Amino acid sequence: MDKLFCLVLNRAFLPFDVIPWEKAITLEWLGRCLVIEYHPTRRVRSPSREYPLPIVVRVSSIRSTMVMERPTRMMIHYRDNFRCAYCGKTLRDNELTIDHVVPRSKGGKWTWENLVTCCVRCNRAKRQEIWVPTYTDPVKPRFLFTRYLKVARLIDPPTREVWNQYLPSQHRWVVGR
Ligand SMILES: [Zn+2]
Repeated sequence: MDKLFCLVLNRAFLPFDVIPWEKAITLEWLGRCLVIEYHPTRRVRSPSREYPLPIVVRVSSIRSTMVMERPTRMMIHYRDNFRCAYCGKTLRDNELTIDHVVPRSKGGKWTWENLVTCCVRCNRAKRQEIWVPTYTDPVKPRFLFTRYLKVARLIDPPTREVWNQYLPSQHRWVVGR
């Protein structure tokens, strides 16, 4: 069976983890989670019977995906969905730069609110000017769900569709990415 994953929600129904399907089934069998959604079509087969596959479960944890005060470069790229804040182009790894919206020379700081993902071309053209980022919202996100983003490309479309109802909007699947 190819890779299938289960989204784990905390007590407040907020996503905080992604686990392999095998682990989700184990949690269910142990009665350690409440299954919220099963996969619409996929089943696990044992020699004698079939089991539905949990793809969203809730546990009683109060953990959440905490967001650090001081972002890293990668966190900014994840928040911005790897798109240039000024022209909207989706970037390849070698085109990723970080731009200070208010340049450092004008007192701009390394903060969630002042950093955006930017392509090399826009970064060069902008120089010391202040541009308004149109393709990202430079705010500190409530969640930064890097565990989800690491597996996002592997998630099958039916699972993705279900998960979108439980994910904060900046982590919903972006087509083409
Ligand atoms: Zn650009």
